[in-house]
Amino acid sequence: MGSISLNKGMWMPSPVPVQSAEGSNSSDGRSSPVLGAHGCGTVSTAPPGSTSPPTKATAQGGISSYSPASTELFLKCPMLWVQTQRGVQPRVEPEWTPNRLIGTAVATGLSAAYRQYDYIGSPLTTLPFALPVAYTALEAGWVEQDTWNLPALQKLVERGIRLAIEGPQLEGMQAVVLTEQDVYGRRPDVVFRRHGGGLVLDENKVTLSLDARYQEARLAEYDHAWQIRDYAYHVSLYLAEPITETRYQLLVLGPRKQVVLHKVALTAEALTQWYQSAQAVWAAMAAVEAGEPPWQNLTACTNKGLHFGRRCWLHDFCHLCEGDAGRAESLYVIPPSQEGRHAL
Ligand code: SF4
Repeated sequence: MGSISLNKGMWMPSPVPVQSAEGSNSSDGRSSPVLGAHGCGTVSTAPPGSTSPPTKATAQGGISSYSPASTELFLKCPMLWVQTQRGVQPRVEPEWTPNRLIGTAVATGLSAAYRQYDYIGSPLTTLPFALPVAYTALEAGWVEQDTWNLPALQKLVERGIRLAIEGPQLEGMQAVVLTEQDVYGRRPDVVFRRHGGGLVLDENKVTLSLDARYQEARLAEYDHAWQIRDYAYHVSLYLAEPITETRYQLLVLGPRKQVVLHKVALTAEALTQWYQSAQAVWAAMAAVEAGEPPWQNLTACTNKGLHFGRRCWLHDFCHLCEGDAGRAESLYVIPPSQEGRHAL
């Protein structure tokens, strides 16, 4: 893939206040702490979570935005988004898998490592900083069951962290500008400043296994990811400087461990186009949140590619019980407000 072509000074988000519909913001439109306008050579010393936790807020003026995770869920199916927001849960949880937890633990460890990069010479010496916090995150989310044991998962987490810090990610980078820091209710993994100038925004993805035959398709999904566009837009606005390169770092833990650094080409036009779409989608989300009925995306119900290899977990709610909370009660935990058809 070619590198991103957001030429310096060529494109900048409009300098308007941004309000996250899910996060709080300071009066100048920035979440604290604020790096210098260009953040050069600076590592945020603010611990993760030091900024205000996301709260429900109604945007007044400016831009009302929703996080990439929330928006992606809405795009998958507005009905699924609404019922998830409202706390509907299946009574029988699907079998627990460690995939998401391993990703969280590796991300936590890497963030700790990134915070040391300005202070120690070799990335490898960051391991003692990364592993303890990664293991703590792993233990916090660990669910006792018969299939996976904790020591085996710790080895996988260490493998992911080693792959990243021994890999090519740091080549040409001068400093970490921010990592896992609140940016308008978002937490991008890491932003580097490249030697010679330019901001590089990286997102880490971890997969337990990926057959080489499917790698190309996986990387192609990243080319159109909502998340990286959203992060590029908001980090540029936050730092008052364009992002010049965006990348996904894919950490494959098996069957053959490898690290793939995948550049996502974003032209200024593509980002402008994304922002126009985002405003339309966020307006639709705000309308549903304000009481308009959500629609069902019936193309998503049994599409296993959209639901981590299963059909949608709300399938029986929608199609067996036809959205009737009373009939669905034996299958789902439904908060009290969820009475009646579609519980709207
Ligand atoms: S079953 Fe289909 S319509 Fe219902 S929430 Fe899931 S994707 Fe949406």
